[in-house]
Amino acid sequence: MPHPDYYKILGVPRTASEEDIKKAYRKLARKHHPDLNPGDAQAEAEFKKLSEANEVLSDPEKRKNYDTYGDPNGPGAQAPPGFEQGGGFSFEDIFAGFGGRPMRHGPERGEDLVHTVRLGFREAFEGTRLSLRVNRSEPCLACRGTGESSRKQEVCRTCNGKGKLGGGGGFLSFGRTCPDCQGRGMRAPACPECGGAGRHPRQETVTIAIPAGVEDGARLRVAGKGEAGRRGGGPGDLYLQISMEADARFERKGPNLYVKLPVSFSEAALGAKVEVPTPEGHQTIKVPPGTQTGAKLRLKGQGMPIPRSSQRGDLIAEVAVVTPQIQDERSKDLLRELAELNDADVRKQRGQHHG
Ligand SMILES: [Zn+2]
Ligand SMILES: [Zn+2]
Repeated sequence: MPHPDYYKILGVPRTASEEDIKKAYRKLARKHHPDLNPGDAQAEAEFKKLSEANEVLSDPEKRKNYDTYGDPNGPGAQAPPGFEQGGGFSFEDIFAGFGGRPMRHGPERGEDLVHTVRLGFREAFEGTRLSLRVNRSEPCLACRGTGESSRKQEVCRTCNGKGKLGGGGGFLSFGRTCPDCQGRGMRAPACPECGGAGRHPRQETVTIAIPAGVEDGARLRVAGKGEAGRRGGGPGDLYLQISMEADARFERKGPNLYVKLPVSFSEAALGAKVEVPTPEGHQTIKVPPGTQTGAKLRLKGQGMPIPRSSQRGDLIAEVAVVTPQIQDERSKDLLRELAELNDADVRKQRGQHHG
């Protein structure tokens, strides 16, 4: 069963500190406390939700599990949807069962499903909860996933009772074991409920918590939300392939964010305090005197959150000096005067550095 959005219940952002959570809980709990609302069933239900949210978010272990797996108890086997980032994923997993019918007659795990999810900058920065409509399947109850009815065995129609396919002297002269009867030549009739498939298609809405700071190309695993298994095998997993939309302001490299910072000629020469956009708004940054185009000014801890940690990357402002476009004579005169006072040869200086 998916867990509710505890952050929403407490009305705090996913980046809220322990103190913020405590405060929000205290404030709301006072309002909805059953002692203050005797006989009010709605207040009681509200108070229960608040307590649950507080219990999870105020416990660092539970909160981490909830942020990471969407479940305060962690990626438990019996408690999907749990998920993890990357890892544990192979092409064999996806294509299991694609290469023809299985030859085994034992339990067979269901195929994994892969969904691509596009996320905007905001969603990746704050983390989000997604509800996805997933076309998956569930085991047929009538035949318990075997695909066979309980009626008596009859001659296999695929191989006409021979137990082998091919081998008729043609291109493939080796017969291969009939996949439908496993070489027995006899098989039970197909289950009338599922037509022999052993499972039924089903559309399901799966709710998934996307952790703050998730990266482009990351794969999140939602355990047990793939296709149904056959003959009692467990379900496959659902993988979310994260694809990030480009942001107009911030360029992302791992946990660090890069932002272009245009500064005027005089700001660069004299030094200035200028505003830099940050994911949360703006922050003032000091441009030192004599700053050149290409200089990188770093705001520590103002980048993307790092999943499964309380840390953040840095925000790096890349300076671009904007040359003034001068029309009037007075400004031109001033600049000529400035040039006379500072007549260093910038190209010669560069030459000296090289040797
Ligand atoms: Zn057969
Ligand atoms: Zn069936």
